[in-house]
Amino acid sequence: MIEAKKKFGQNFLKDTTVLTKIIQSMPQSDRKLIEIGPGLGDLTQELLKVKPLVAYEVDEDLCVYLRKKFSAKIDEGKLTLVKTDVLKQFEKGSLADEPYDLVANLPYYIATTIILEALEDHNCKSMVVMIQKEVAQKFAALPKTKEFTSLAILAQSIGVAKILFDVGPESFDPQPKVVSSILKIDKQKEFVEGKFSGIFETNEQLQKFKRYLRCSFQSPRKTWLRNISSEFEKTLVQEIMYDEKLPITIRPHEISVLSHHLLFKKLRLNDARKRERDSTTGREE
Ligand code: SAM
Repeated sequence: MIEAKKKFGQNFLKDTTVLTKIIQSMPQSDRKLIEIGPGLGDLTQELLKVKPLVAYEVDEDLCVYLRKKFSAKIDEGKLTLVKTDVLKQFEKGSLADEPYDLVANLPYYIATTIILEALEDHNCKSMVVMIQKEVAQKFAALPKTKEFTSLAILAQSIGVAKILFDVGPESFDPQPKVVSSILKIDKQKEFVEGKFSGIFETNEQLQKFKRYLRCSFQSPRKTWLRNISSEFEKTLVQEIMYDEKLPITIRPHEISVLSHHLLFKKLRLNDARKRERDSTTGREE
C-alpha cells in the first residue's frame, strides 16, 4: 500500500468517468504525449491506450511502483518514466525535443508554475490539465471580471484557454479540500494578422510583456494609468490612452487582451523614440 504524500500534492484520481472524459478532451494529434506526475498510474494507463508517452514523476516510491506496474510497457518502449522534479526539466529548456501535448492531473502546490512554464515551452502545443478550480478560472477569465489578471492575459496571448468541466473532491483519494477543474489551453491559436502577429517573436519580447503586465496589475484596484505611470511617463501614457479612446479611470482588468497588446506596443515604441530624442539632445534619464 502506497501512502499519499502531502508534500508532493498527491491526490489520486479514482473516478473512471472523469478519466474517460479527460481522454476524450485530448487533442487529436500525432504529437508526442507527456504526463506530469503519473502517481499510481490510473491516468497513465488510459493515456497508454491512446499512444506512447513520457511521464515525469518526482517521488521515488511511486517510480518503483510504476516501474513494476508498467514493466511490459516500459520494455516495449511505450512508456518512458523519468524520475525528476519537472521544474528542473523545464529549467533545461523543454520537456521534449519535439512538439508535444501535455495531459496531467497536476499537483496543486506548483500547478500555476507548471502551466506558466508550459506556456513558455515552445515545444508544448497544448495542455489538458486538472488543477484547482480557482486557478483554472484565473487562466480562462474574461475581461471585466475580477479574475482577469496577468495569468489570463498571458495564457490567452499564447493560446485559447477554456475550462472544460469541474471535478468534485469525491473523485480523488485522498480527497482534496477544493473543487478541481479541467483546463484546456490550445496553443495553436491563429493570431489576427497585423494585431498579435510578431509580438512574441523572441523570448526577450515575451519577458518585456510580462514586465508590462506586472506593472499594469501591481495594484489591481488602482487605475491602469496610475499603475503604468510608475514605469512610463504619465503624459505619454495619457496621450496613448486618448488615441485609443480609453477612459483615464479604466482599471487593468477592464482592458481586453488585444488592447493590452496594443498599449504595450505603443508604449515601447514611444518610449524608444523618447530615449532616442533624449540621447541626441544629450539629456540624462
Ligand atoms: N496522475 C495521478 C492521478 O491522476 O491520480 C497523480 C496526480 S497527483 C495530483 C500529482 C502527482 O504529481 C503525484 O504523483 C506527485 O508525486 C507528482 N509530483 C509532485 N510534484 C512533482 C514535481 N515537482 N515533478 C514531477 N512530479 C511531481
